[in-house]
Amino acid sequence: METPEYIENLRIVGGNLALDFVNTEDGDPPVECLRGYGDLVAWSVRVGLLTADEGERLADEARGRPEDAEAAYRDALALRGALYGVFRAVAEGGEVSERDLETLRRYEREALLRGRLVRGEGAFAWEWKDGRDLGGMLWPVAHSATGLLTAGDLGRLKLCAGCYWVFLDASRNHSRRWCTMEVCGTDEKKRRYVERRAARRNSKQRDQSGGAGP
Ligand SMILES: [Zn+2]
Repeated sequence: METPEYIENLRIVGGNLALDFVNTEDGDPPVECLRGYGDLVAWSVRVGLLTADEGERLADEARGRPEDAEAAYRDALALRGALYGVFRAVAEGGEVSERDLETLRRYEREALLRGRLVRGEGAFAWEWKDGRDLGGMLWPVAHSATGLLTAGDLGRLKLCAGCYWVFLDASRNHSRRWCTMEVCGTDEKKRRYVERRAARRNSKQRDQSGGAGP
């Protein structure tokens, strides 16, 4: 199975599996990195959810059941959209949409139903080993999201100021503002960020002073 370049080169910087899944829509302007079911498998191999062999088997399975694969792909995009909605709202201190949350609840319930709690090296962990289920990679993703929301340090959940990716800020003084310095922390992006902020501030001032027209 060939890994497309846009998945091979995708930066994995979220600090959590569910955040990395959300970040499969890359950058500003957005570039879609999950363009079909095959990409979902390739991404799963890339982040270590599946071994290369498991990925091959799943891709074979998908070729024999194209309609099911298409449905699993659509489900993945729907879950990704809901997760982004939840994480973005949390990062910005906004209201979480009930609809997004319900989507996550549904996947988490299914994940727990289909997973197995097993003893790893020391700690216990949930494991999903149903090699034939085309949407099986979404269970660990949903479970990571729930784990983050229930037990994570949500004060460290942030939105990149340049490209709107989500990430966990592990810096000591909680000062990370960019998904990656090289991509979004460049002078150009910083300049645009400052401009956007100034524009927002100005329009707020206009609103407060009685909303002058153009
Ligand atoms: Zn960024």
